[in-house]
Amino acid sequence: MIRTNSKLPDVGVTIFSVMTQLANEHEAINLSQGFPDFDTVPDLIKRTAHHMNNGRNQYAPMQGAVELRQKIATKIELVYGATYDPETEITVTAGATEAIFAAITAVVQPGDEVLLFEPAYDAYVPIIRLNHGIPVYMQLTPPGYGIDWDRVADHITAKTRLIIINSPHNPTGQILNQADMQSLEALVSNTNILILSDEVYEHIIFDGCSHESVARYPSLADRSFVVSSFGKTYHATGWKIGYCLAPRALSQEIQRIHQFLTFAVNTPVQLAYADILDQTHLFEDLADFYQQKRDAFLAFMQNSRFKPIACSGTYFQLMQYDQISDLPDVEFARWLTTAHGVASIPVSALYHTQTDHQVVRFCFAKKNLTLEKAAEKLCKI
Ligand code: PMP
Repeated sequence: MIRTNSKLPDVGVTIFSVMTQLANEHEAINLSQGFPDFDTVPDLIKRTAHHMNNGRNQYAPMQGAVELRQKIATKIELVYGATYDPETEITVTAGATEAIFAAITAVVQPGDEVLLFEPAYDAYVPIIRLNHGIPVYMQLTPPGYGIDWDRVADHITAKTRLIIINSPHNPTGQILNQADMQSLEALVSNTNILILSDEVYEHIIFDGCSHESVARYPSLADRSFVVSSFGKTYHATGWKIGYCLAPRALSQEIQRIHQFLTFAVNTPVQLAYADILDQTHLFEDLADFYQQKRDAFLAFMQNSRFKPIACSGTYFQLMQYDQISDLPDVEFARWLTTAHGVASIPVSALYHTQTDHQVVRFCFAKKNLTLEKAAEKLCKI
C-alpha cells in the first residue's frame, strides 16, 4: 500500500464542483458554479483559430506573449491611469488561480500571517497553508458585508505579511469604495505589508459605480499584486487565462514561481486576447449586460419568499431563505437541487468556521430563459 501523507488532509473537493456535480446528477438548473451558459466572444474564437492555423503553436515567453503584455499595459493605462512596464511588471498566468497561487507562494514564509475576509473565494486559504502561512480571518456579515477597518487594524501584527482583498467580491457582490481604499492605504503605510488584490470581476460593477482598482492608488500599487482574469470578462472561464500586475521586484518573485508552475500559458489564446483587447466596448458594455441580467433575475424572483441581498458587482446574487426553511444552508442548497431542481452555493462553505446566515448564492451569468425557468421553480417554494 502506498501511504499518502496529505498536505491538505481536511480539504475536500471544492463546493463549486460538488454542487455542479449534484446539479448534473439531478438535471437541475445550475446556478451554482460561476460560469456563463452562453458562448464566448466570436472574434476570440476566430482569432485563436487564426493563430493556430498560422503556426503560433509553440511556447510563449515565460512572462506571457509580448503582444498581450503590451496590450494589457495599454488597457490598464487607459482604464486606471496606471503605468505597468510590459517587460518587467506583467505576468500572464493560467487563470487568476495560478496568479493567486504564485503570488502567495512568492511572498509568504512559514509563520507569516495573511489577513483575509470571509466569506472568501476558496482558493486562498489552502494556498496560504501549503506555504505554512497563518490565515487570519475577518468575518463579514450580511446584509452589508462591509469591512470594519478599525477591527482590521486590531488584527495587524508584526507578522502580518499579506492582506487579500477581492472587489467586486465573490460571493457577496459587494464592492470596495474610495473610503475603503483610503483606509487600506492608511493601514499599510509605513509597514512591510503586501496586498493581493483579486479583481477578476473588475468590469462587472453596477448602478454607475466605478471599480476602485488598487492600480488607481499609487501608494497601494507599489506594494500590490493585482490579479485579473479574462475568463470573466470574455465569457471564457474554460480558457483559463489571467494575469498579475505588480511592481518589478514583486513581479520578479511571482515569475520565479510561475516559470516552474506552468512556465508559459498557451500561445494562440494569448495572441487572440491581444488581438481583441483594444475593442474597449467588449469590457465597457459588460456592466450593463450583467446589470440587466441581475435585474431580470430579481424581477423573475419578485414573488418568491427568497430575500435578495443588494448586489453591486460580480455575477452572483445572494438570497436569504429564512422565510422558507430552518435548514442549515448546506442542507438547504442540497434540498433545493434535489427536490426543486435549482443548484446554488451555500455561503457558509466559504467561511472556515460554522457561520451560517441562511444565505445561498445564485449565479446569474445565464441566458434570461435559464434565469426565468430557475426563478419559476424557486417562486413555488
Ligand atoms: N478569484 C475569484 C474571486 C473568482 O471568483 C475566481 C473564479 N471563480 C477566480 C479568482 C479564479 O479565476 P480563474 O478561473 O481565471 O482562475
